[in-house]
Amino acid sequence: MIKKGKLSVIFDSLVDGKPSDEQWYKDRLAICSECEHNTNNITKSNSTLAKLFKIMPFDHCIICKCIISNKCSRKEEMCGLIYINQKPKWNALVVETIDNDAFNIYNNSFSHANIYLGSDRNGEIKDSLSGSDNDSYDYFVVDFGVVDNDPDTMSLTLESKNGNTFNIGHVSSGCGCTKVKFTQLDEQHAAITFDVIPKIGDFATNVMVYYSDKNGLSKSVRILVKGFRN
Ligand code: SF4
Repeated sequence: MIKKGKLSVIFDSLVDGKPSDEQWYKDRLAICSECEHNTNNITKSNSTLAKLFKIMPFDHCIICKCIISNKCSRKEEMCGLIYINQKPKWNALVVETIDNDAFNIYNNSFSHANIYLGSDRNGEIKDSLSGSDNDSYDYFVVDFGVVDNDPDTMSLTLESKNGNTFNIGHVSSGCGCTKVKFTQLDEQHAAITFDVIPKIGDFATNVMVYYSDKNGLSKSVRILVKGFRN
């Protein structure tokens, strides 16, 4: 799977404008407005680079260097802290792919977990947080980050591309720490719910969604569920 590229995202943001009435957008802006990494909040102790960004028009995030109001307006974006391996203060709402026969996923629980793409081909683990726009990935990632209390639950919506239809037969989890169930919403959408009850430390398990495509062929999509239990 190849994710929608940065240029397409920027183009869409210019065409769509800002979702000023959407609560998720207002919530993101409120979080960024209080954040110590917002150029509007930097202090004398910050780096020269941060001070340079402060004199530019518009508030920027000094972690990812993005204009905050633009970044917050795109559903596929997430807080810049994820790029320095810290817990993001807000998560992505959608992962869009450009492959004709792949899926998009929508994050119905963005206050609980983040979503992105991952790959482990030939033993090389990579994800779409650090990869380039042309990189190809094998599975979706549901990242709970740090789980303080269990059980924790999140759900996502799987959406087929280009009006393709699909029908889920069953879903399975590789570990008892993650219970998974699905609801077929219509011929192009299904909701998948993950209940995690992890042991202390890192946890990760593969969830397989088995479905038949519009031609009746049996296929599967993989979702890696991961996080850290305090
Ligand atoms: S994107 Fe994240 S790190 Fe950057 S200003 Fe907003 S809350 Fe802070």
